[in-house]
Amino acid sequence: MIDAHVHLERGPYTLDWLNQFIEQAMKNGITELRFLEHSFRFHEFQNIYSGIVAHPKYGGYQSGWLKKRCVMPLDGYKELIATAQKTAFPIKVKFGLEVCYFEDMEAETSAALSGFNWDFLTGSVHWIDSWGFDHKETKGEWAILDVDVVSRRYYEIMIHLVESRLFTCLAHPDSIKCFGCSPKSDFSSVYNTLAAALNSSGMETEISCGLKVNYGLDEIGLCKPLLSALRANRVKLVTASDAHAPQDAGRFIAQAAAML
Ligand SMILES: [Zn+2]
Ligand SMILES: [Zn+2]
Repeated sequence: MIDAHVHLERGPYTLDWLNQFIEQAMKNGITELRFLEHSFRFHEFQNIYSGIVAHPKYGGYQSGWLKKRCVMPLDGYKELIATAQKTAFPIKVKFGLEVCYFEDMEAETSAALSGFNWDFLTGSVHWIDSWGFDHKETKGEWAILDVDVVSRRYYEIMIHLVESRLFTCLAHPDSIKCFGCSPKSDFSSVYNTLAAALNSSGMETEISCGLKVNYGLDEIGLCKPLLSALRANRVKLVTASDAHAPQDAGRFIAQAAAML
């Protein structure tokens, strides 16, 4: 079994910290573990976040959020990768990034990604027109917005992410439901367009346990209509915990794998 989405960010970039994730993942039956760090950690990506800092309503909060996180150059992570590549692990280990996608920042993103041979690159929609829809601090926006309109925009951005061809994997394609808000209208044609785009770009996407691991929702993976659109378009699916701590590595992956 694969866990394609594990973050090291809450600890040091050392082999000891890495091994804690590997040990727990192995207890959960994982044979391949993919580590990825958020783009917002690294100075090289700071400029792609200029829109969220300038957001008329949430710019203040979001700029403080970014300042706390964007704290280092990529070098420290690259050094850990170089050390890990010389180390024998009991399971397969890969390294990449989880990159926030902004429609107007493709050139800047591509520039920040160049010059390093990543095993994989995962693209994420975490921001809808510069609003961090999955932050509890700005959650109040959900009460005044139309869930169907927000969800349509979320998938529109996601389709542009896929069409950008910047990434090899699309992260958590159902994360818009993080606070339990699901669209009421029929989204089958939206899901089909997304699935067809994934197919033609050759990208894979996740059956993510993130809603359960990080938001406490009683739900694993993808809603049924999205899963069937992905299946109908033969999109490659990969299981992912979205763990941010060793104890979550490989968590619920067996349940997610049962959906494959
Ligand atoms: Zn994410
Ligand atoms: Zn993540």
